[in-house]
Amino acid sequence: MRENLIEFRNVSFRYGEEEPWVLKNCSFNIFKDEWVAIIGHNGSGKSTIAKLMNGLLFPQEGEIYINGQLVNEDTIWEIRKEVGMVFQNPDNQFVGTTVQDDVAFGMENRGIAREEMIKRIDESLTAVGMQDYRLTEPHRLSGGQKQRVAIASVLAISPEVLILDEATAMLDPKGRLEIMSTVANVQEQKELSLITITHDLREVVQAERVIVMNEGVIWDEAKPREIFTKKDGLRKIGLDVPFIAILAEELNKTGMAIINEPLN
Ligand code: ADP
Repeated sequence: MRENLIEFRNVSFRYGEEEPWVLKNCSFNIFKDEWVAIIGHNGSGKSTIAKLMNGLLFPQEGEIYINGQLVNEDTIWEIRKEVGMVFQNPDNQFVGTTVQDDVAFGMENRGIAREEMIKRIDESLTAVGMQDYRLTEPHRLSGGQKQRVAIASVLAISPEVLILDEATAMLDPKGRLEIMSTVANVQEQKELSLITITHDLREVVQAERVIVMNEGVIWDEAKPREIFTKKDGLRKIGLDVPFIAILAEELNKTGMAIINEPLN
């Protein structure tokens, strides 16, 4: 049986006592080494879930466990070492003057020996295909390249889970594809869980499992292939089924082609 990495048990959250609940009784698990996509329209509660996962927020009701440990004020510093996050805006994530300084930064506070740091910079930049940009100033990079460096900075810390919160939202189509293929490579090479948060159904195709959020509740949880069969329901909650999935379904129906491979 697969081992649990993250567990949400009946989690409810609101941003203040007078505010509406933005997550309502959410329960789900993420397994070790699993790739889960969390999808939903804007405001459905996805980023709140991400912030709860690394203790930027705490639930008013229910519990969150990471590696079997309850997330609370006492455990949060331990837990943050296991949870790496990449956010939407590539320009807000740089602190170093060169790419390698930037990747080193996160490790500096963790007492990692210099030789080990050099090794990890090399490995993590190679994992995202940015090894030739070590000495480049971050502002010279494209949006997709910046996000790849942001992913490398997180990988260098060796977390158990990498969370990408709308990490492609500000990128052009080329940058978006760059990140999606980088993420797929990273997940194959490394033993880590991956959570990709998105409002774009095209980005869930490669995930093992999809959690669909709507108005703070889990609307569905299934493999991408099963999610795509619920076209009408998805449209009602503001999600557009990708053209490629519609095309595959139509071709299958007419018998012109049986397309199973691209969808999990
Ligand atoms: P998503 O990531 O799916 O777009 P969020 O988790 O960001 O959704 O937001 C869920 C709900 O919580 C939205 O209604 C949003 O307006 C509200 N919200 C988010 N952040 C705050 C905040 N800091 N204060 C009050 N309400 C917030």
